[in-house]
Amino acid sequence: MTKFVYTFGGKTAEGKADMKNLLGGKGANLAEMCLLGLPVPAGLTITTECCTAYYENNCQLPAGLMDEVWKGMANVEKLMGMKYDDAENPLLVSCRSGARSSMPGMMDTVLNIGLSSKTIPGMLKRTNNPRFVYDSYRRLIMMYADVVMEKSEGIEPADGKGIRKQLDDMLDEYKAAHNYKSDTDLTADDLQKLAEDFKLKVKEVLGVEFPDDAKAQMEGGIKAVFKSWNGKKAVSYRKIEGIPDDWGTAVNVQAMVFGNMGDNSATCVAFTRNPATGDNQFYGEWLINAQGEDVVAGIRTPNPLNDDTKNEQNKHMHSMQELMPETYKELCDIRSILEKNFHDMLDIEFTIQDGKLYMLQCRVGKRTGVAALTMAMDMLKEGLIDESEVVMRISPAQLDELLHPILDSSDEKKHQVIAKGLPAGPGGAVGVIALSSEKAKEYQAAGIKNILVREETNPEDVEGMRAADGILTARGGMTSHAALVARGWGKCCIVGCEAVEISKDQTNVTTDAYGKKRVNVVEANTVVINGKVYHEGDLLSLNGSKGWVYDEEIKMINATENPLFQELMTIVDKYRKMGVRTNADNPADAQKAIDFGAEGIGLFRIEHMFYGENSEVPLEKLRNMILANTLEARLAALDELEPYIKESAKGTLKVMDGKPLTFRLMDPPLHEFVPQTEEKQREVAKARGISYEDLHARIESMEEVNPMMGLRGVRLGIIYPEITATQFRALFSATVELMKEGFNPMLEIMVPLTINAAELHHQKRIADKVKKEVEDKYGIEFNYKFGTMIEIPRAALVANQIAEVAEFFSFGTNDLTQMTFGFSRDDVNSIVKTYLDEKIIAADPFNNFDSECVGELVKIGIERGRSTRPNLKCGVCGEHGGDPTAAEFFYKQGMNYVSCSPFRVPVARLAAAQAAIKEARAK
Ligand code: ADP
Ligand code: MG
Ligand code: MG
Repeated sequence: MTKFVYTFGGKTAEGKADMKNLLGGKGANLAEMCLLGLPVPAGLTITTECCTAYYENNCQLPAGLMDEVWKGMANVEKLMGMKYDDAENPLLVSCRSGARSSMPGMMDTVLNIGLSSKTIPGMLKRTNNPRFVYDSYRRLIMMYADVVMEKSEGIEPADGKGIRKQLDDMLDEYKAAHNYKSDTDLTADDLQKLAEDFKLKVKEVLGVEFPDDAKAQMEGGIKAVFKSWNGKKAVSYRKIEGIPDDWGTAVNVQAMVFGNMGDNSATCVAFTRNPATGDNQFYGEWLINAQGEDVVAGIRTPNPLNDDTKNEQNKHMHSMQELMPETYKELCDIRSILEKNFHDMLDIEFTIQDGKLYMLQCRVGKRTGVAALTMAMDMLKEGLIDESEVVMRISPAQLDELLHPILDSSDEKKHQVIAKGLPAGPGGAVGVIALSSEKAKEYQAAGIKNILVREETNPEDVEGMRAADGILTARGGMTSHAALVARGWGKCCIVGCEAVEISKDQTNVTTDAYGKKRVNVVEANTVVINGKVYHEGDLLSLNGSKGWVYDEEIKMINATENPLFQELMTIVDKYRKMGVRTNADNPADAQKAIDFGAEGIGLFRIEHMFYGENSEVPLEKLRNMILANTLEARLAALDELEPYIKESAKGTLKVMDGKPLTFRLMDPPLHEFVPQTEEKQREVAKARGISYEDLHARIESMEEVNPMMGLRGVRLGIIYPEITATQFRALFSATVELMKEGFNPMLEIMVPLTINAAELHHQKRIADKVKKEVEDKYGIEFNYKFGTMIEIPRAALVANQIAEVAEFFSFGTNDLTQMTFGFSRDDVNSIVKTYLDEKIIAADPFNNFDSECVGELVKIGIERGRSTRPNLKCGVCGEHGGDPTAAEFFYKQGMNYVSCSPFRVPVARLAAAQAAIKEARAK
């Protein structure tokens, strides 16, 4: 028969720390603490396997389980010197949940099990403390009625009508009627009276008697803990955290110790180091004469554990260090024993019964990004962990958090959130409202921090977004333009914030990068958030990591200057094997990326020179080219455009001196660059000396029903070979000119949106011809690499043919995802939302790389490509390049590098190092 029960207590245990899968985190660590010789009340753990059996068995405990429990209890009774359900010397227990990975507060625990009319007299006699006995009894009734009799029976009371709430209300009314301020004012008589009233109420509300039998209570408690695995809270927490539903929870039945026995007793929680700052200081709170979760429940303000824990709220209160110096000293010893054993910061729960300390729980503690960094570096110096472990200790999300100035969370708590949206760009921002890009630029020029608030943003807002300190939009999803750009810049951004309404008095209609019509607010002077009117110049604070908006100034903190960050990244690079490049299209971003450790540029989008600052003249030339009706006119326009492309390329190539730079040939549909409103078109027509009607007709003729799958990418270069030729000429000239100036440009050019080798041969012929011309003109020879993007499934499938001409591949996972799913990345948001709710897909593939299918295409692409060209260099560009989970996948597929926006570079470096360490450890 399977063993379901593992005992612990008296400095020995059947389990240990590494048995978390079987015993749950709590059970495994209780056993470990016993093995370490720490004072732990004896108990037993019922395995997670038993939970699985319970569910497979239609919610019946496996046969023989209770016999095993009673056998285990005999051991507990022996160790504790008391007997369960005994009239003279009764033992009480707690029934505690505990899953493999901690799910704080999501499942249930019942304390003081075993109190009944049979055992109460014995308790009274033994303790001579009626107040304590009846306090324990009323707590038992409250918890048992709530957890066992209501929740686990699947009863779903109306809001505020749950039994726990009703009993809590009775308690409050009783206190009010007697003018009591605190629970501790209640006398033994009060508590006895309350317990009786509670039982009547339970019968009245739930229709069942509170069980007056210790054995029945035990079985009820165990079942209820199993049931709580599928409680609402637990299920939704698992969904968010990605914890599998079939893991199950263990149950810990443990002898009770009491923090509510009087002023020499207490209940406490602590962290072995400060979880907010990471400082090596013991940090905790305690509550005298209280039980269980009173500390966290906020019923009373808890006392500080020691001097280090004192703050504004509790500095006048006594610490344990002051009141119980000996117990505190014992605790400090335990703290160091635990850290030495677990090599980490621990979150501990303990109780003091009549001056004696008992450990009730320990687990690795959650921490902020700063704290994770500080602790890891400290522990390295203390010899608690080695360098590879330092790398594993900081999660990519924590590192990301470190790279952005953030709102001070303790200050946030003091203010009211006025609206919530999607956390699209990390960090925090405080500034005044700017309702147009113009205004944002104005504010920036005047040195005023500002938040650009828009219905949604389009490419024309790029400069305003750059100028703003934060961005808030009413519409849009996590992959919307605003979100993408903001993340790229590491800019705080909240999108899809539905509570935001912008006055829409005057609007115009434009067409965005992918041909979608958008209504823009031309002039808006107010914004309404949840009914309240705000004007330009009013202040907002944004928490971009949570998506929260405030209308008051919240303090900001900055973690980037931390010298520990640099130390960490040096260690990270010792372990990293995959390269990390960046996506950048101007010298400033390129320099920033180099500072963040980028080893090259994986994606330089040529068309970005037509947006934003100083783009008027080149955009004008580009428009001439697009609007040209004849080849001659187009060639003339291209000739004028070429020097601008060359200069743009030169600037960034110079910064990247000696590091590879991959240029992507023009990719977007051209008609994105021509004006869409009648007003603008009239202006342009006038400037060109042609009629508005002619211009309008020309622009209309370019319109496509589905521009994302239309005339873009390599198709442009095949329909208009002269456009390709111009780009090659500009890039080649930039390269040789820099060589002449003594630089070492490492040029790579890639062709986007390919479907077969023939397209590449076509473009390569142009490249070869232009190269010869340039070499003849300048009188020097040069090298460059010719490659392609793989972003259409077909290209991945014929990668072996494509690799005959392409010297490198860059997987464009945004388009590859779009084409694999057939999801238009700009329109699919609301569909994806429903798909997620209905569990049709597990995650948004634009956020979470779909390794199952898009990943399969990547794998096939690399394999087939390298079957032709064994040393084929493969990289990834696009948002997924900076995604840590995806980075691990790419590493395993043998990708040479990932490329991501400058601010993601350190995160990608960390993710790559972690992937390498995981691989080494798995061997
Ligand atoms: P959670 O998983 O939600 O933290 P626990 O099982 O840890 O729930 O129980 C919550 C609290 O109840 C503990 O922190 C401790 O204070 C109290 N508690 C649990 N078991 C016992 C016990 N055997 N004796 C005294 N207090 C207990
Ligand atoms: Mg809890
Ligand atoms: Mg706990």
